Amino acid sequence: MNDAHVIADIDPSREPIVLVALDDPEHNPKLFACRTCGNAYSVKQVGILNARDMAINCTDCNPKTYACDMCGCETPRYWTRCYSCRHEAKLAAATEVVDDGGPYCAFGGDTYYFDMGEAADAGVDWVSPCTVSYPQINADSVLETLLDDMFEDSSIDDMAGVEAFYAAVKSFNDAQTTPTYFGDDKRKIRVPRDTDGSPEGRDAQRLDGEAATAGAEGIAQPSGSEQSA
Ligand SMILES: [Zn+2]
Ligand SMILES: [Zn+2]
Repeated sequence: MNDAHVIADIDPSREPIVLVALDDPEHNPKLFACRTCGNAYSVKQVGILNARDMAINCTDCNPKTYACDMCGCETPRYWTRCYSCRHEAKLAAATEVVDDGGPYCAFGGDTYYFDMGEAADAGVDWVSPCTVSYPQINADSVLETLLDDMFEDSSIDDMAGVEAFYAAVKSFNDAQTTPTYFGDDKRKIRVPRDTDGSPEGRDAQRLDGEAATAGAEGIAQPSGSEQSA
């Protein structure tokens, strides 16, 4: 094993560059270098077979590709699951619940529907129920923040107007009428389908968030954190 050529079994154009010591009459390979980029791999460090193999299959010239662990398709760098399969897995893991009357969020997406008919028209098969919230001031945390800036062992008793503050905050909180909706993708509701719906069309859109969003354009959306009203 003192000559690189005895292990040559590939297309000669892919054979790596072999570096030998000038003063070595036997020309024992010291390094194998990638023929494309010149990265060298040491025989001493990894052995002759590995060094040659690494130079042939240089990782700089052949970057590692990533594949989906569910469907096997190629995925973007570092992703081990494609968008469709991630969506499918999330959908499979969600608990199916009964229709709560809305509003709804396209499952795994950011399109909101006021009623189920809009979701059906948009071609989505599953929606998530939404949690609803209103802007609310937490009076206790406001006072605690103030206490942090006061002397040690201070308490609410060291402040004046506390009762009035609580009353004012309650009045503010009670006055809020603009809801924010969050889709809860731990839960799912199946969108009822008319029997004349085209299954092909639905399948084509089912996993395509953009298609679902595009189909919903023009529908008024509730104000939500992910979309400003
Ligand atoms: Zn290379
Ligand atoms: Zn996949």
